[in-house]
Amino acid sequence: MSNVIFIDLDETLVNFITSFSNKRDKITFDCGEHFYGYVRPLATEMLRDLREIAPTRLLTTGMREYALKVNEFYNFKFLPQDILALEDCWVEEQIGYGKDWMTLNKNVSTHSILIDNLPPTETWPRRKMHYLGIKSDRYIQIREFNGKDPDAFLGEWKGILKAIGELFNQ
Ligand SMILES: [Mg+2]
Repeated sequence: MSNVIFIDLDETLVNFITSFSNKRDKITFDCGEHFYGYVRPLATEMLRDLREIAPTRLLTTGMREYALKVNEFYNFKFLPQDILALEDCWVEEQIGYGKDWMTLNKNVSTHSILIDNLPPTETWPRRKMHYLGIKSDRYIQIREFNGKDPDAFLGEWKGILKAIGELFNQ
């Protein structure tokens, strides 16, 4: 069984809006729709730090096409199979939590970790934890990114890395 780190995309690594902004990066989708984004300044460093600890995958409630484009645009270096997007996880959302990802990925430990900006008590984080088969003690809430981080964020990130290290060494 291997420990895996799952990390959220929106408001964790990037912030995208649909209204035009010439200060933001523009990503165009196959349907012709545009999204305007900021990448978290520390995102590349965060992913490098996490990958030094354990294999790291993206878990997003965004659509797969969106996640793939953002991954490519910002060079996050996730392989397509390491991106878990909305339609991979919640195909049967209307009847509950959808298919149980753990039954499909038995080699992933329930000691895996999820990093996400939302409070763990909210609906989507609870769905994600259920989907991964992890408990809330493996859930790490990170400061929401809306286009700007305070100087204190670097210190917060170092604290998160320390907490992950301790969780994996328990
Ligand atoms: Mg998020």
